[in-house]
Amino acid sequence: MNTLRFIAKHRVSYLRFTFLGIGLVLTFATIQITLLYPNPTPRHLIVPLLLGTTVGLLLSTLIALRREVLDGQRMFRAVADLAQEFIYLRRVDGSYEYVSPSCEQLTGYSTADFYAQPSFMSKLVHPEDRQAWDRHVHQMDQLGQPEKLVIRIHTRNGEMRWIEHLCTDVRDAQGNIFGVRSTNLDISGRVDHEREMAIAAVAFETHEAILITDRDSRILRVNRAFCDITGYAADEVIGQTPALFRSGRHDAQFYAEMWTTLRTQGRWAGETWDRRKNGEIYPKYLSITAVPDQSGEVAYYVGTFSDITVRKDAEAEINRLAYYDPLTHLPNRRLLLDRLAHTMAASQRHGRHGAVLFIDLDHFKNLNDTRGHDVGDHLLIEVADRLISCVRAEDTVARLGGDEFVVLLEDLGDDAPQAAAQVEAAADKILCAINQPYLLKGYPHHSTSSIGAVLFKGQSENIDELLKHADVALYRAKDAGRATLRFFDPTMQAALDARAVLEADLREAVVKHQFHLHYQAQLDSAGHIIGAEALLRWQHPQRGSVPPVEFIPFAEECGLIVPIGRWVLQVACKQIKAWESHPLAKNLRLAVNVSASQFMQESFVEEAIQQIQINDLDPHRLKLELTESALIDGIDNAIEKMRALKTVGIGFSLDDFGTGYSSLSYLRRLPLDQLKIDRSFVSDIMTNASDAVIAQTIIGMARNLGLDVIAEGVETQDQFRFLDQHGCNGYQGYLFSRPLPLDEFEQLLKENDTSPQQK
Ligand code: C2E
Ligand code: CA
Ligand code: CA
Repeated sequence: MNTLRFIAKHRVSYLRFTFLGIGLVLTFATIQITLLYPNPTPRHLIVPLLLGTTVGLLLSTLIALRREVLDGQRMFRAVADLAQEFIYLRRVDGSYEYVSPSCEQLTGYSTADFYAQPSFMSKLVHPEDRQAWDRHVHQMDQLGQPEKLVIRIHTRNGEMRWIEHLCTDVRDAQGNIFGVRSTNLDISGRVDHEREMAIAAVAFETHEAILITDRDSRILRVNRAFCDITGYAADEVIGQTPALFRSGRHDAQFYAEMWTTLRTQGRWAGETWDRRKNGEIYPKYLSITAVPDQSGEVAYYVGTFSDITVRKDAEAEINRLAYYDPLTHLPNRRLLLDRLAHTMAASQRHGRHGAVLFIDLDHFKNLNDTRGHDVGDHLLIEVADRLISCVRAEDTVARLGGDEFVVLLEDLGDDAPQAAAQVEAAADKILCAINQPYLLKGYPHHSTSSIGAVLFKGQSENIDELLKHADVALYRAKDAGRATLRFFDPTMQAALDARAVLEADLREAVVKHQFHLHYQAQLDSAGHIIGAEALLRWQHPQRGSVPPVEFIPFAEECGLIVPIGRWVLQVACKQIKAWESHPLAKNLRLAVNVSASQFMQESFVEEAIQQIQINDLDPHRLKLELTESALIDGIDNAIEKMRALKTVGIGFSLDDFGTGYSSLSYLRRLPLDQLKIDRSFVSDIMTNASDAVIAQTIIGMARNLGLDVIAEGVETQDQFRFLDQHGCNGYQGYLFSRPLPLDEFEQLLKENDTSPQQK
């Protein structure tokens, strides 16, 4: 069957050889027959003919087969010789049937080296791959399945190469097994690349989240850790931008700076807050690297991050334990010292006072001993809350331990007595808050506290000293019978005591008729008295006459200026009424000073109009002197009030003009009658060029606005002349008259009338 198939396949050459064979046999048979049978019959020819055909057929088949084998071998060798791969045929005993010349290129050894030594190839195999190789060789000798093996070999010059070894086995006609081997030339590059890919794939799946975007921030790939941390599946984010994860905790500037760094330095790292798919915001440590392409342009961004929630929480916890009192959550001693150092440094820079208040609960130990620590703890927590409610956000409330609390007040101004007054106000608030009843685990409780205070400005004392002083002051407060405040500085204490006395005295002054008014004349250019300014005087039974500068600012601070000012207005209105029947005084305008806080009273307009009505007087005789400070806070409200009074007929003068804001824009809006040039400009008008210019400017402004202008504090003829020359039309000052008691002022009117010249 095989032969037939072979014949069919190789028809042409078979016929050629068949004819050759038949020809040979027929020639031979003809010679034989001629020799044996002189008269051969056709019968004599049949046997040799059959014989000849058979022999011819066999002969030609054998020849064809032989040729075929030789052709096959030749072709195999020709192909193998040309192949780039190294190909060899190996016998079972290890010797080589054939070795392709490419062996030299791959191994550095010649074909002769292979032919000379059986199993020569095995000797080249890297020791670590030897085991796999041996198994492979063994299997091959058993006529195993075709196989592929990737191993390393050492070349003649000692270099190591990765090769891919393909093998299959054949058995020849005699039953000999041959191994056919083909070896891909050096695949080291491919192996390295595959290894790198494998390593990269492993590295990509780390516990750190990784995302890769293109240059436009479109997400190309994310790893498993990314999905675990963010809660998004990969296909939900691919194609999106990382803006999807923004928490809203960073402003546009944050991202702008991030991009600037990325562009300039190629990388950015830092902590950010992002949002998970479930909406939860979490902190992460993110680093982004820009990956350039061959042209140097950014092709990808690779971001890696880890969730640092746990670390952040731990940090916060450590911070809390280190700096806060676990019971009340107030800053502890360490944080207090830290803040105190900062506050003192700031105080040094700005020249402002600060204060430390030591607060101690009175008889706290009793509560602890009788009701137990649990109840005591409750009180401390409640006290902490109350203390916080008593101070401003920038102040610090700390707990030193036990029932000792500290309040650190900042930014109390540059004036020591005023700072002390603020401390006193804060302390009063604290004493009062702590004094309120408590309900501790169902038990009603009452507690008071003692406070020791110390003021500081800059860093003149060190922190330890300062705290010691506050402690000393606290003991003084306890000595003084508890539930009170004591200052460390005795002069501070004295100043506070003095203020307390002054306040008590001032309250009584109105009731006890210790106030009265003095009148200071106001004149025109011709020297005629055209009005007067009412100036308050306090006749104190012990202190004697107290000048307004000593009590008016204080009265403004503690709010007493309101009833005092009301009294002044009442007396002034009565005086205007009284002067109506006085021939020399009936045309005078009386100026009354009104403080800012008084003017800001809701009822001010109503009260002033009421005084006009009660006394039934000509409102044009009354002029109110306001300072800029009374107007500048809530100017619209001030204008409204002025308009209301103006409609009635009451006039307005702007006092101390030139010392405040003096802005033209608001000046134009105010319904004023007069500007009053401040004493400070008038006093230096002859010696200080700029004061002279200011005075002139004020006169000019008043004129432009259609207002009168009066100069106060005119003490010399030169000053008067200068002002007169520049168009001033009102004067007040010692040159003409000091503020005088009523009778003396009325006497002055008479003198002025008989002699219209200046005194
Ligand atoms: P002021 O409103 O600027 O009053 C003018 C002050 O200048 C008065 O001081 C007056 O005595 C003083 N004075 C007048 N002429 C001269 C002078 O030629 N030379 C000098 N050196 N001083 C002169 P006084 O009476 O001590 O009042 C001081 C401040 O007290 C007043 O300043 C005013 O702000 C306030 N004041 C006085 N009385 C009242 C009042 O009834 N209510 C309110 N709210 N404040 C008042
Ligand atoms: Ca005044
Ligand atoms: Ca003034």
